[in-house]
Order: sequence, then structure tokens, then C-alpha cells
Amino acid sequence: MNLFVKLIILLPVLFFTNVSNSEVRNIFIEKNKIITLSGNFIQGGLIKGKAFPHANIKFLDKNIFLDEKNRFVFGFGRDFENKAIISITYKKKLITKSLSIEKQNYKIQRIEGLPKRMVTPPESVYKRIISENKEIAKVRKLNSNVSFIFQNFVWPLKGIITGVFGSQRVLNGKPKRPHYGIDIAAKEGTEIIAPLDSIVRMAEKDLYYTGGTIMLDHGHGVTSVYSHLSKILVKVNENIKKGDIIGLVGSTGRSTGPHLDWRINWFEQRLDPSLLIKK
Ligand SMILES: [Zn+2]
Repeated sequence: MNLFVKLIILLPVLFFTNVSNSEVRNIFIEKNKIITLSGNFIQGGLIKGKAFPHANIKFLDKNIFLDEKNRFVFGFGRDFENKAIISITYKKKLITKSLSIEKQNYKIQRIEGLPKRMVTPPESVYKRIISENKEIAKVRKLNSNVSFIFQNFVWPLKGIITGVFGSQRVLNGKPKRPHYGIDIAAKEGTEIIAPLDSIVRMAEKDLYYTGGTIMLDHGHGVTSVYSHLSKILVKVNENIKKGDIIGLVGSTGRSTGPHLDWRINWFEQRLDPSLLIKK
């Protein structure tokens, strides 16, 4: 095979290795009773489901909330195993189904020359970090009865992607926790919009790690975080619309330059924002 032919065969592989396509999988319960799951069956993916009245769905020991249209969601975190079990109870019958989950290939991101205080926080701020993390965890436990998550996400701003979901961070040679957000570099003061209708659940000017921080609730356990903001333009418990300006890009908290760190969760499961935006 000549080099040209090899390249033609190899190129699509190189190009698409990290791209997971949205899929639809059906679970047959009985005649006219089918549960449809659609989304990315990959680590970091979110699945949107449609059931029927009186179906009880469990995933990861959680009773899954069905809205008035019998819709529901669940997701797979960064290190989710290669199988997920969903169980459905209908008319006293229990059906369990194993779903295969694809692995992601995470990158290693090395950042050198950071000031020491940014790699290991001084002991004097431990208490502060713990209490801030508690507040964040509280928001991620919310299971709000709104269904904004069934809208399609848009990017909260346009910029250069400088950090991707799941990458293993090595700061000044020290392996650290993986990076769960997408970093989008943009000029200080760039407007950030809500990617979906939301309820504001956190609007903090100065958290230790994330600086100016907004947390939005999209319902069904899906929340998103916007970090390092220079200005916050929303208030807690405010209802906002997709496209509303929520804040401005900055470099507050532990940050090396103006950018937005954008994260999405389904409860404690960390999702990959790039998978949630329709290509
Ligand atoms: Zn980040």
C-alpha cells in the first residue's frame, strides 16, 4: 500500500478518535412500552430518556425523576466503568439492562512555573476550602422539578479552548486531580451567556479556587459551574433564560489568565460539556 492510500485510510481514524456520536438505544419492556435512551454512551456523556407513566427507573441506586412528559436524564462521570446498569420496575416486574459505556482517552496536561501557592494551598485556607466545597456539593445534590435540560446547550461564550474535560493535570511536576471543566480563553470582560434556561443556585464573588463563581441549575440533577469571573450579573434563585448574560470573563481565584472554566454535573457525576453541545 502506498503512503497516500494509507493516509486516506488513517485520516478519518485520527480525526474521529475522540468524537463520540450520539446514539439511540431502546429498552423493550412489553408491547407498546419501550424506553428510549439517547445521548453519548461514553465517559462524561449525558443520556436523555423517555419512558411512560408508572415506570420506576433506578440508576446508580438513585430513583430517577420522571417529569410530566415521562422524560428523565442520567450521566456517566469521568472514570465511569465500561458497564452501567439501569433497572426499570413496571407493573411489579423488574427489568435490568446493562449498557456498554465507551472509554475516553484523557490527555496529560503539564503546567510548569506556577507560583507554589497555586499548586498547594497554604494550611490557613483549608477551612475556607472545605466550607466552599460543601456549598458546591449542596447545589450538586439538587433535583429540581424543572426540565430545562431538554433544551439544546449552546456555548456560554466564543473563545479558544485551552483545557479539555478529564485531562490529568501535572502542576510543577506534581500529579493533581483531573481537570473536569472546559477552559475557554477570552479577553477579560467578555460576556458569558446561560447555555440553557436555568435557576441561579450560587453567585459568589470570591471562592478560593474558582474566584467569581456562578452555579446554574437546569433540572433533573444537572448543574453547571462558571468560574474565574470578573463580574457576576445574576442573583441566587433568579430564573434566567438561555442566552441571558450571567457574568464577565476574568482571572479570579486560582487562574493563570482570563478564561472561563465551564463544568457540568449530573449529581456527583462529572460530564463533558463538549459532548452536550450539538455538533
Ligand atoms: Zn479550568
